[in-house]
Amino acid sequence: MTKAIGYAAQHSFSRLKPLPFERDEPRPNEVEIAVMFCGVCHSDIHQVRNEWSNTVYPCMPGHEVVGRVMRIGDAVRLHMVGDIVGVGCMVDSCRQCEPCRAHDENYCEGPNSWLATYNGPMVPAKMAPTHANMYGRDNTYGGYSSVLVAPEDFVLSIPSGLRPEVAAPILCAGVTTFSPMKHWGVKAGDHVGIVGFGGLGDMAVKLARAMGAEVTVFTRSKDKLDAIRGLGAKGVLSGDVEAMGAHRNSFDFMLDTVPEKHDVDPYVTMLKRDSTLAVVGAIEPLAPENNQERVMHRKSVAGSLIGSIAETREVLEFCAAHGIGPDIEVIPIQEINHAYRMVEKGDVRFRYVIDMASLAAEEAA
Ligand code: NDP
Ligand code: ZN
Repeated sequence: MTKAIGYAAQHSFSRLKPLPFERDEPRPNEVEIAVMFCGVCHSDIHQVRNEWSNTVYPCMPGHEVVGRVMRIGDAVRLHMVGDIVGVGCMVDSCRQCEPCRAHDENYCEGPNSWLATYNGPMVPAKMAPTHANMYGRDNTYGGYSSVLVAPEDFVLSIPSGLRPEVAAPILCAGVTTFSPMKHWGVKAGDHVGIVGFGGLGDMAVKLARAMGAEVTVFTRSKDKLDAIRGLGAKGVLSGDVEAMGAHRNSFDFMLDTVPEKHDVDPYVTMLKRDSTLAVVGAIEPLAPENNQERVMHRKSVAGSLIGSIAETREVLEFCAAHGIGPDIEVIPIQEINHAYRMVEKGDVRFRYVIDMASLAAEEAA
C-alpha cells in the first residue's frame, strides 16, 4: 500500500475536505502515477452532490488527470518511469464483451460495465445481473489526489506538444466532444451547432473549427459572445427566438452540453433533414419532446458517453497537431469548494484545473 491524500466529500451536502488514504500497490500490468494536475468537470459536481442517485461516499472525484509515472509493474510495456501520462474517466473495463472487443470500452456491457476512475464500477455489484464484482472494488478514488494507479492500457501518453495542465481537460471534455463529432462524421464545410459554452462547449468549438466546420454556439450568456467570436464561431443567445428561427433546418450536426434538464425541441428544429442532435450534457430525463419535427424530417436525438481509449489517444494527438486546448484557470486544491460554486453559477472561463502540488500543504499538516 502507498500512502496518499486527496480531497473528498463525505455526503451529498458536504464540502470537499482532505482525506488521507492508501492506494493499492501497482499490479504487474499497472502504472503508479504522481498526479500533477486534475481538471474540474461539471460531472464531478453532479457526482459529489449525488445528482445521479448513485454516489458512494466518501466521494473523491477527478477524471481529467495528468501526472508522472513513478513506478511500473513487471509486465508494463507502454509506459516508462518519468513519462508524463493521463487518465480519463475509465480505469478498466470487462475486456470481453462485444463493445470492449470493438475498442468501445466506454460502452462496456460486462456485468459491472466499465470501472470509473472515481465512484467505482458504472454498474455496482449490488445492481449487476449476476451480483458480480469483477474489479474487486466498490468505490474508486479519482484524481483529486496525490497518487493514482491504473492498468497501462487505460493510461494515455501525453504528446510533448501539450502542457500537462492543458492536456488534463482533454481527457474528458475533449474526448466527450470529439467522439460524437467523429461518430456522426463532422467534416470540413459542415454547419455545426454547439449548445452551452462551458468546459465541454469550449473544446467542442475548437475541435469543430479545427475539423473545418462552420460553427454556431447557442449560449444564455451575453458576456461570452466575444470569446465565441474570438474562436471564429458565431454566437446566438438561446433566448433569441428570431435568431434561432433564422437557423431552421440548417445544421448538419448539433452537440448539446447543457448540464440540466431542458427543452431540446428548439434545437431539433434547427437540424437539417437526416441530421442528429447529440445530447451529452443532461444525463437525466429531458423535458417532454415533440416527435413531430423528427418524423417530418427524419431527424435524430441521440446521446454519447465520453469516448474510447483509442479516441482519447486520437483527440490528444489532434489537439497537439492543431495547437488547440482548453482555456484553463489553475487553482490550488484548497480553492476547490469555491470553484464548484463558480461552475454551478456558470462563472468559469472555461475549465478549472487543480495544481496538485498544492496538496503538499495538506501532507505536511
Ligand atoms: P460547464 O458547467 O462547464 O458548462 C455547461 C454550460 O452549459 C454552461 O457554461 C452554460 O453555458 C450552459 N448552461 C445552460 N443552462 C445551464 C444551467 N441551467 N446550468 C448551468 N449551465 C447551463 O459544464 P461541463 O461543460 O463540464 O459539462 C457539461 C455537462 O456535460 C455536465 O452535465 C456534465 O456532467 C456532462 N458531461 C457528460 C459527459 C458524457 O460522457 N456524456 C462527459 C462529461 C461531462 P452558457 O453560459 O454558454 O449557456
Ligand atoms: Zn468529465
